[in-house]
Amino acid sequence: TKEKPPPVPKRGGKRMSFATERVRVAVRIRPLVAHEADQVPSVRCIDRGALEVTTPSAGGVSTIKKYDFDLCLGPSSTEDSVFEALGAKALLDRALRGIKATVFAYGATGSGKTHTILGHEREDFESLPVSPGTDLINDRDGLVARAVKYLYQTADSDLQIRASFFEVYCESIYDLLEPNATALPLREGQGGFFAPGLSELDCHSSDDVEAILREGRRSRRKASHKLNRDSSRSHALLVLRLSHGAARGRVTFVDLAGNERLKRSKDSDPRETGAINRSLQALGKVISILSRKEDQTEHVPYRDSTLTKLLMDSLGGDAATLMVACASPAAAHVDETLCTLGYARRARGIVNAPFATLVGADTNAERRQQERDRNEIERLRD
Ligand code: ADP
Ligand code: MG
Repeated sequence: TKEKPPPVPKRGGKRMSFATERVRVAVRIRPLVAHEADQVPSVRCIDRGALEVTTPSAGGVSTIKKYDFDLCLGPSSTEDSVFEALGAKALLDRALRGIKATVFAYGATGSGKTHTILGHEREDFESLPVSPGTDLINDRDGLVARAVKYLYQTADSDLQIRASFFEVYCESIYDLLEPNATALPLREGQGGFFAPGLSELDCHSSDDVEAILREGRRSRRKASHKLNRDSSRSHALLVLRLSHGAARGRVTFVDLAGNERLKRSKDSDPRETGAINRSLQALGKVISILSRKEDQTEHVPYRDSTLTKLLMDSLGGDAATLMVACASPAAAHVDETLCTLGYARRARGIVNAPFATLVGADTNAERRQQERDRNEIERLRD
């Protein structure tokens, strides 16, 4: 019963009612890219919070479906406008006050997840957008780089950030900041799940974090070339632990694997196909169950996969969560887009109860700090 949403944190044995909030869901429709020049767009943002998808059906009649979200960002959105419109600043302000914040990108391979979260890949020559509005030379930073700059600009001088960057691939964890890393297991401690041995680097400026980002992306590419690990089949997580005065916040960015159904081909590794499906299937299940508000007693299968263990506090837990569902506008991808929008719509029904972690402010916070210290000792012992 520990796994039921929303959690009701206790203070001094007395139940405290914490304000709850929904997971916010934004949809970003990327521009058509070079190889799609002949495609017709099938998705149209009709206002700030609504979009329309046109599906051709048999007999030449097309159907139009309308969807409502917290925010719809169209193909001409710049990276800067995305950062502003998502309300990232408000979320980061809360992280500086001790809240755990999670931003995750969901969508098919090629829908713009990595572009949105980690930023434009320098090596990516394929992506000259067809529609105007994007300036990939001057506007290539994704949410991570913008967030980190904002954190250092906004915080008082005593902000400390510790960063880890890793991949979840075939249910195992690979440290992207440790070259030649082998798979790390996931353990459960009092503060949630953690990977003993995962590196966590001290950062003193946004340059430090950006260096980590570059280094991690390089090892992600290397792993995909050398170890034949397809990066579109892996989930990348960048975790920033913040220490800001008495506040102990956390910001997690997740670039999920492509959610498209994998066709089992002769040469695809069945181990991989199964394992990838496991994490994303578990995520889908967790989202579906949490969004069905009527039955709060239903078991939430967080423990079915590595990914859902890691996202436990972000979905139905004590973090503030923002989902960015990414989609291509191309008619050729309309089925994938509908699938993504279906999940995104369900995710809007998830309720979280964020609370701030402060040290020294009250005995309960102290108790939590002691718990964390114990975890740290346990981690070091491991
Ligand atoms: P995913 O990570 O979902 O597989 P990517 O982020 O790699 O997708 O994007 C797929 C392609 O589309 C890349 O070539 C990327 O540079 C391009 N792209 C994605 N979003 C945008 C955008 N908003 N503007 C311009 N190009 C984009
Ligand atoms: Mg990607």
